[in-house]
Amino acid sequence: MIKLENISKYYYSANAVVPALRKIRLEFQKGEFVAITGESGSGKSTLLNIISGLDTYDEGELYILGEATSHFDDDNWEEYRKNKIGFVFQNYNLIENYSALYNVESVLLIQGYEYAQARKMAKELLGKVGLKGQANQRTSKLSSGQKQRLSIARALAKNTDIIVADEPTGNLDSENGHQIMELFGKLSKDKLIIVVTHNYEETAPYVTRKIRLHDGEIVSDTQVNDSLCQPVEEEVNRTKEALPDSTEGKVVKDGRSRKADSRIAWRFTRMNIATQPRRVILFLCFLLFTAIVSYIFLGEISSNIDDTFVKDYDARAFLNGDNTRIIVKKADGNAITKEDLGAFQRIKHVVMADQYDYANDINYYINLGVDYDYTYQPKESVNDVAPEKIANFLQATKFMKSDTCISKKDLSTGRLPKARNEIVLWSKDESVLDSHLPCYFTSQNMWGYDNYYMADLTVVGLLKNESSQVYFSSELCDMLSAALYDDSYNIGMSMNIRTGEYDVNLSFIPVIGDNKENGELKVSSALADNSIYTLPGEAKINVYRGNKEDSTESNGEEYEGYVLSDYNPYSIKFIEVSKEFFNQLCDYQSNQASLYMKDYIYTDYVLRKLKDMGYQAISPYRVCSVEYNPWKVDMRNATLVRSLLVLLIICLLEIMIIGSFLRIKHKNYLVLASMGMNHKTIQWMNYLELLVYTAIALLITVACADGMNLFGFRYLRNMMKYYNLLSYAVFVAFNLFMITATVWFFNRYLKRKQKWS
Ligand code: ADP
Ligand code: MG
Repeated sequence: MIKLENISKYYYSANAVVPALRKIRLEFQKGEFVAITGESGSGKSTLLNIISGLDTYDEGELYILGEATSHFDDDNWEEYRKNKIGFVFQNYNLIENYSALYNVESVLLIQGYEYAQARKMAKELLGKVGLKGQANQRTSKLSSGQKQRLSIARALAKNTDIIVADEPTGNLDSENGHQIMELFGKLSKDKLIIVVTHNYEETAPYVTRKIRLHDGEIVSDTQVNDSLCQPVEEEVNRTKEALPDSTEGKVVKDGRSRKADSRIAWRFTRMNIATQPRRVILFLCFLLFTAIVSYIFLGEISSNIDDTFVKDYDARAFLNGDNTRIIVKKADGNAITKEDLGAFQRIKHVVMADQYDYANDINYYINLGVDYDYTYQPKESVNDVAPEKIANFLQATKFMKSDTCISKKDLSTGRLPKARNEIVLWSKDESVLDSHLPCYFTSQNMWGYDNYYMADLTVVGLLKNESSQVYFSSELCDMLSAALYDDSYNIGMSMNIRTGEYDVNLSFIPVIGDNKENGELKVSSALADNSIYTLPGEAKINVYRGNKEDSTESNGEEYEGYVLSDYNPYSIKFIEVSKEFFNQLCDYQSNQASLYMKDYIYTDYVLRKLKDMGYQAISPYRVCSVEYNPWKVDMRNATLVRSLLVLLIICLLEIMIIGSFLRIKHKNYLVLASMGMNHKTIQWMNYLELLVYTAIALLITVACADGMNLFGFRYLRNMMKYYNLLSYAVFVAFNLFMITATVWFFNRYLKRKQKWS
C-alpha cells in the first residue's frame, strides 16, 4: 500500500542541518499492524508525518497505492489526508468542547454524510470503541483512556485503509494502553495500522511487525506474532458492519462543492454555538458593546449632518423660525380652503395646519409680567392728564396661531372662538374661562419696532393639553394678516381735516373697530397728540396699492372719512375703521398656510409630499438659515471628528479583542482541518458564527434603543430621531464590516498556523 524508497528528511536550523531520516526503505501492506520504536529523537514522528502527508520529504520517493507522490500539490495532499488516512495523536487532538458524539459525527459530516446518517454511524462507532455510555458527554470531561478511544473512533469514522498513531498511549496508564493496542489489533485485520511507540511491551502482543529506528535509520525490521497475520474472518465482518463503507446518505462524496461546504459550515457553526455557552456569552457581550457604541456615535454623526444646524437663522423674512414650520401656497396663488387644510393635516408627521400663515409671524404678549409690563410716563405738554401708560415687551417668543389649528376635540371646556376678540388657551385655573385679557401684538419686520396693536380678548375655551400657545380667532388673524404683509396693502391717507388746510400723506394700517359708522376713522392718541392735527374732522383717504415709496401720486382710490376724537389704544400706525370700510380697503384672503410637523427631521418628507400634491412649500427655518456660524461649525466638526475617532477605535478594538478570543480556541480549527475540513469551509464557518453573534447583538441594540426611547431617555430620543433607514443601513454595514474584517484577519492567522503545523 505504501512504499518508501530512500526517503531522507533534513531539518535546517540556524547553524546546522539535522538529518531526521536517512535513506529509509520500507513497504507496508494491508492487514499489518506496525510498531515503530526507537529512542526519543530517532525520527519516529518524522517518519509517521511523512507517511501521513503532514510533512514533506527531501529525497527519495513515497508511493501511495502505487502512485508516486513527489508531484503532489497542496490539494492532492489535502485530499489524501482527508480520504485515505486516519490519525490518532498522543494528545488526542479532539475538540474538547464537543460531546464525544459530535467529535465523531464531525468527521462524517465533513465527509459529506447526511446529518441523520452521520449520527447513526457515529453512535455505532462509539459503541465499537466502548464509549456508548459517554456519547453525550463533553469531551473535556472524559478520562485519558476514553479520549484516546474516542480519537480512534474518529479515525475509524474516516473509513480509511490506513490509520497512523503517534504515541497514542503516551498519556495512558498501562491498563488503558493495553486496551487501546488491543483495539488497534482488532482493527488491523483489514487495515494498515502504524503506531509509533516508546513502550513496545504494550504493543507486543498485538503487532505483526516491529521497526526500530536509530538516528534516522532503520536498525531492525522484524515480523512478529505470525499467527496474527491471517485475518480472522468473523472479526473482519464485525468490523465492517460498523464502518461507514456505504456511500448511502453521503451528499457529496468529496464534500468539495460550494453548496456542500456552506451546508457543512452552517452545521458546524450551530455545533460551535451550542457547545460553548460561555464563549457565546463572551462574544455577545463584547459585540453588544461595540454595537451600542457604534449606534451612539453613528447617531451623533447623522444628527450633525444637516448643515442647517450650523447656520444662523436670519429672522428678517420670517420672524417665526420654528424649525417644524412649513409654509405652503397653492401653485395658482388662490386662497387656502378648508379642503386644503384637511389635506395638509392628513399628511404623515404633520400635527397642525394654520390657514392664516401671516399671523404665524406676529408676536403676541398676553402674560403681564412675563410677556410685557407697563411703565408710566407723565405727560409734559398736556396738564392734568394721567401719566401715560406705556407697554414694554419683555420677550418676543410667542407667535399667533389661529383657531383653524384646533378643533372641538382639543378643548376640555368652553367653545372655539366665534367673535374676533375671542381666544382659547390652556390653564390649570378654570376661572380663566370668560375672563378678559389685554393682549398686545407686534411684527418687528412689517410694522417696525414701535408699532403694536392691542385687543381686549375674552377666553371662551380651555385646551385639554398643556400648552403655552394661545389660539386666536380666524377673524383676528385674518385682519392682522390682511393689511400688513404685502406691500400692496399699504394704505396712504391724506387728511383734509375740516377745511383741507392740513394735507398730510402717511401710510397706515387699518384695523376693525366696533361701533364705527362706515368711513369713520379712529386714530391713535399719538397721532392725535401731534399738534398739527386738530381733531376731529373730515378726512380724505387715498388708498394706493404698491410700494409706499412710489405712491405719492394719487394712483389709488379715494374714500371719504371722518376722524373721530376718541383715541384708540394702539400705536400711531393703526387706525380703526368699521368692518365694512375695512373690507372695502382690504380685499384680502389668506393664500398661504403654515403647517407644523412633529419634528424638523420630517422636513424633507413633508416638502416632497406637498410638492407631489401640487403645492409650493418651503421650510422658513431652512430657507433663512444662511450664514454659517463659525463657532457652530467648529463644534460640529469636533463632534464629527470625535465620533469618527471613536468608531475607528471600536473597530480596531473589535479586531483585536474578538481576534484574540478566537485565537484562544484556534486549536479547534486546526483539528477540524486535520479531520479533512477544507480551508474554505473553516473560513465560512468563522464568518457564519461571528455573523450570528453580530446579528443578535445588533437586534438587541436596536430593541434596547427602542425600549429606552419608550422609557424616555432624552439623549437617546433626540438622537434616534435622526435614525432613518439610511442610518440603520450604515449602522448594520459598519458592524458587518468590523466583524468581517475581524474574521478575515483571524482566518489569515489560521492559515499561517495551519501551514506551520
Ligand atoms: P521522535 O519522534 O523519534 O522523538 P522526531 O521525528 O520528532 O523524533 O525528530 C527527529 C529529529 O529531527 C530530532 O533530532 C529532532 O530534534 C529533529 N526535528 C524534529 N522536528 C524538527 C523541526 N521542526 N525542526 C528542526 N528539527 C526537528
Ligand atoms: Mg515523536
